[in-house]
Amino acid sequence: MTSSFDTDVIVIGAGLAGLGAAHALARRGLRCRVLEATDRIGGRAWTAHPPELDGAWFDMGAVWLHDAEHNPLVPIAEAAGDTLLRADALRRELTFVGDRPATQAELADYAGAWDRFEQATDRLLAAHGDVPLAAVTRALADDPWAATVEAWEGPVICVADADRFSARDWRRNALSGSNLVPQGGIGAFVARRLGQGLDIRFGTPVTRLRWNGPRGQVTAETPRGAVTAGACIVTVSTGVLASGALAFDPVLPEAVREAVAALPMGLATKVVLRAGGADRLDLPPHSSIDRQVPASGGVLMPFQCWPFGRDWVQGWIGGTPAWDLARAGDAAAVDFALAQLRDLFGSRVDRVFAGGARLVTHWEADPWVRGAYCYALPGKADARDRLAEPQGDGHLLFAGEACNVPYAGTLAGAWLSGQDAAARVVAG
Ligand SMILES: Cc1cc2nc3c(=O)[nH]c(=O)nc-3n(C[C@H](O)[C@H](O)[C@H](O)COP(=O)(O)OP(=O)(O)OC[C@H]3O[C@@H](n4cnc5c(N)ncnc54)[C@H](O)[C@@H]3O)c2cc1C
Repeated sequence: MTSSFDTDVIVIGAGLAGLGAAHALARRGLRCRVLEATDRIGGRAWTAHPPELDGAWFDMGAVWLHDAEHNPLVPIAEAAGDTLLRADALRRELTFVGDRPATQAELADYAGAWDRFEQATDRLLAAHGDVPLAAVTRALADDPWAATVEAWEGPVICVADADRFSARDWRRNALSGSNLVPQGGIGAFVARRLGQGLDIRFGTPVTRLRWNGPRGQVTAETPRGAVTAGACIVTVSTGVLASGALAFDPVLPEAVREAVAALPMGLATKVVLRAGGADRLDLPPHSSIDRQVPASGGVLMPFQCWPFGRDWVQGWIGGTPAWDLARAGDAAAVDFALAQLRDLFGSRVDRVFAGGARLVTHWEADPWVRGAYCYALPGKADARDRLAEPQGDGHLLFAGEACNVPYAGTLAGAWLSGQDAAARVVAG
């Protein structure tokens, strides 16, 4: 790296990918400056204390450390002595068929549906290379739970409609292992443990990146002035990349633009309803509720009820219904969630939540994210690898949840992709 530059490496974004990159660069003795548009660390890992919840901690975005047995963030939390709550052990699962709880026989059939879905996916992928996830459901036309698995794995978990989502991308990234929640929230954990010792400049959006300068110079233009370096790692979401809010000079190669277009942002929205009184619908703390989805493309809004014994339920909606509700407004999102609960518990729901506060998240409206996380279109699963390819003789790299396999769309994936990009910078 040339010492006449302001720093060795510019990292754009102080989310998990940017932090992973910055720590890896610092460990290798390189100077690194992180430019962050907002005034906080963590990006989509954000623990808020909303007045609607009387200031209780609430993760607006990410919540769980997935695949805890292999998640690189778990040892960091453990070494720091942080408490990790065992979300799976706490959870009480309740599945409805229509307006009644599923029978034991139905639950046993449901439990086997996930393997059946995976096996059918693998058969289709072996025959066709890639298909939309909805094709798997069509191949399992006689399976009463296939559309439910589709709804979970498509719009709920991967925030993508199953007919627009690559089944290969899903299989490459399917999560396993257990899920842990840091006490006090994942965003608070990130802010407490992952920013130390780093040169992070907040309130510094990069508006233009000039990336083909002499001696590999990159120049990041911001409202606070320009910063020069020998390399840049860009960790903004594909939503930000597609928006043009960050201009590249020269324009990015066709292959990169195609990769960004192949990885559109999905949306997931949390709708929180607080109970107005003491009635808890006869559900124990940390109840997790879903229901059978009758047909491919059907809407599923799972609920987490009374998490950690608190006085709210939290519905989660992903894919097109989430975009539709975002456009319709908070009142519509709340009505939708109440209607879903009414289908299961009847009019008692209206009494339980009367007078309670409500909260609706809006990742689509955050100009620095523009959605929840990205998914690959059918036939485009390799776009993640292509986006991670170094550009400009290795002076420009992309990292972030979009760029990782097998942890795409997660905190761990973002962290690892930042570290991979840093290793590539060092390797030259
Ligand atoms: C509702 C929701 C629930 C989720 N649940 C989970 C979960 O339970 N577990 C899990 O592992 N993952 C979960 N995720 C996904 C996870 O949050 C993301 O995969 C991860 O946080 C992405 O990190 P990143 O560094 O790639 O991007 P980001 O977190 O988006 O970081 C990019 C940063 O770049 C900044 N930025 C953008 N544009 C500019 C610019 N022009 N100049 C400077 N800075 C800029 C942004 O402000 C941001 O801070 C969830 C996400 C959402 C939205």
